[in-house]
Order: sequence, then structure tokens, then C-alpha cells
Amino acid sequence: MEYKTVVDDKLALNRFAVDEHHRHITAHAEHMDQNMLNALLAVCPAGLYSLNPQGQLILEYAGCLECGSCRIICASRPGALTWGYPRATKGVFYRYG
Ligand code: SF4
Repeated sequence: MEYKTVVDDKLALNRFAVDEHHRHITAHAEHMDQNMLNALLAVCPAGLYSLNPQGQLILEYAGCLECGSCRIICASRPGALTWGYPRATKGVFYRYG
């Protein structure tokens, strides 16, 4: 079984209460350099960062695992990322098994 399939299967066990009215993470690509962009594309365990056909950074916050990896990547560049936890009763609910 491929690694990607195993991870996707485990991620599919989680449940998400998406807050449609509040983005708890917003990426500001205009404050990032190419190395930071590349790191974001590689580091997110849920694969939520991607580039659209025009090469613009896309973040699908709805599947966020709240791990904080992207926050660490962008910590050296103020304004690159607005990061917070989802509001109460929203976000990821981990399920194991
Ligand atoms: S906090 Fe973790 S899961 Fe959420 S977007 Fe950042 S890297 Fe991805």
C-alpha cells in the first residue's frame, strides 16, 4: 500500500466542523518568498496548500489539522500568515481506529 493512500485513509477518519463564516488561517503570498511557498506546499500534512494554474497560492482551510506547521514556516515573515485556532465547537475532531 502506498504511503499517500495510508495517510489519506487515516485523514478520512477525522471529522471536521467547518466554520463557513471564519477563516482561521489566511495566507498572504505577497509577503512570502519562493522558499517559503515551497515549504508550505511540502509541509502541510493534509496537503491544503496548492498552486492554481496561474501559480497563485491556494489554501483550503476546511481540512486543517491544526498542527501549526505552516505557522512555524511563516514565523520569520510577519504578515505572511494569519493563524489562529477555529472558534469553539469548530475545527477538526480526531478519531482513531
Ligand atoms: S495548521 Fe497544519 S494542517 Fe493546518 S494548514 Fe497549517 S500545516 Fe496544514
